[in-house]
Amino acid sequence: MSTFPKNLVINFHMTEVCNYRCAYCYAKWHDDPQSNELHRQEGKVDELLTSLAEHFLSPNPLQDQLGYQGVRINFAGGEPMVLGKQFIAALRKAKALGFSTSIITNGHFLHEDTLAEVAPMLDMLGISFDTADELIAHSIGRSDRRRQWLSPARLATIAAGYRALNPAGTLKINTVVNPFNWRENLLAVIEAVRPDKWKLLRVLPVHDVRQVITDEQYDAYVTRHHSAGAMVVVEDNEAMWQSYLMVNPLGRFYQNSAPGQGHIKSDPILKVGVARAFSQIPFNADAFARRYR
Ligand code: SF4
Repeated sequence: MSTFPKNLVINFHMTEVCNYRCAYCYAKWHDDPQSNELHRQEGKVDELLTSLAEHFLSPNPLQDQLGYQGVRINFAGGEPMVLGKQFIAALRKAKALGFSTSIITNGHFLHEDTLAEVAPMLDMLGISFDTADELIAHSIGRSDRRRQWLSPARLATIAAGYRALNPAGTLKINTVVNPFNWRENLLAVIEAVRPDKWKLLRVLPVHDVRQVITDEQYDAYVTRHHSAGAMVVVEDNEAMWQSYLMVNPLGRFYQNSAPGQGHIKSDPILKVGVARAFSQIPFNADAFARRYR
């Protein structure tokens, strides 16, 4: 491999619970009940993070293969911030163990006080934002039970707050191009927010094969936003399959299987250890490296 990724990224989906209900949501682990999520058991999230640090921050076969220098824990969900103080404690623990840290959040709970607490600990703040149109947001399901959504104005306020609190941090926006928003133009929003990275992800039919768009629809979206410049990262389905290293809320590695077929899961990491659990799922290290080059 000619170019090594600087960081290995482990996506820890800390909970399945979310205040939004996006039609395409990938974060469903049907046979792993929410009542068994690790954060519900005292000390288990700390134990999991410690096990991951002992394995991935020490010499190991994946490091030999990828040549990574550091490891970033990306907190994801569901919506990790629904966990409030438990999420903040996990973030603090990850930092103390020597991980870089990031989150992908729908931004809903990033009020001033919370942002002030978490921003300095986040090397990267990732906000998922699919649309500047409230009706489209409701159609996608990107709003809560009271029909509150993340407006472009609020996104800009959060972005400015993060920049002020953590000038060295990276701001990323993730947009899932899906059947409801593929016609939209987000250039004005992106120009106002000025993220370091704007990822255009093509909707991935993990659980529901109806959530697809055509090549032409995706390409049209990407072309429409070309002028946003170098910050744009295009991630088509092929680049996404099996190129993410993911841990589910019960502390199992998992991977997407065939479209519409859900997930392949390892045994619980805290039961069999990181090395054995990791050997039980497919992971395409070359595809991972290509995404981070
Ligand atoms: S905001 Fe994310 S986790 Fe929540 S429903 Fe939408 S896609 Fe799923």
